[in-house]
Amino acid sequence: MRILLIEDEAALARPLAEHLEADLHIVEWFATLDEADSAIRALEYDVVLLDLQLPDGDGLSFLSRIRDRNIRTPIIILTARDKVSDRIDGLNRGADDYVIKPFDLDEVKARIHTVCRRSADQLTQTILIRDLCVCLSDHSVSRAGQPIRLTAKEWGVLEVLLRRKSKIVPKESLEAAIYAYGEEVESNALEAHISRLRSKLGKDLIVTHRGMGYTLQP
Ligand code: CA
Repeated sequence: MRILLIEDEAALARPLAEHLEADLHIVEWFATLDEADSAIRALEYDVVLLDLQLPDGDGLSFLSRIRDRNIRTPIIILTARDKVSDRIDGLNRGADDYVIKPFDLDEVKARIHTVCRRSADQLTQTILIRDLCVCLSDHSVSRAGQPIRLTAKEWGVLEVLLRRKSKIVPKESLEAAIYAYGEEVESNALEAHISRLRSKLGKDLIVTHRGMGYTLQP
């Protein structure tokens, strides 16, 4: 893995870098945000280890900038024990985890493995259809970066169609998937959900196969 380490205290950074390199990771260590920023613009990293107090600025603002640029690289904050508010702030701004200084080298290594595994799982759970981004794990949908709110039934329809890929899903299967057993289904309710999905997600996203069912536009 390629790791970006942003830490100005050499006494912390050096042993950490050596420990990770011994584990066959590639570690690039920078002591300023400015250098780290150039590095992350130029290269893709698998994980970023971020100290919060750097000589040229605040690690939290760096974190926000990175997430604003849509860089989804997992970020682990390295922070002092007494800075609880910074840790919460960091997680809110899109950090994946934090380790408290002084840290145990093996603990940092374990956290790196955990966040990387988590982000790999999320990737396979995220489906892109043109400008739509659908996340199966947290049931969120966004279009060109803007979140779109779906009702539970609309989500149910979308999810079934996504999981069946390009196979035609009969109307009855969709109804069975989104309605509880015994729940009364009005005759045109499914069409209403589909029509609302089309207006929210794009009118040609769901294709009607007359008398057969529905598919997602490939
Ligand atoms: Ca520092």
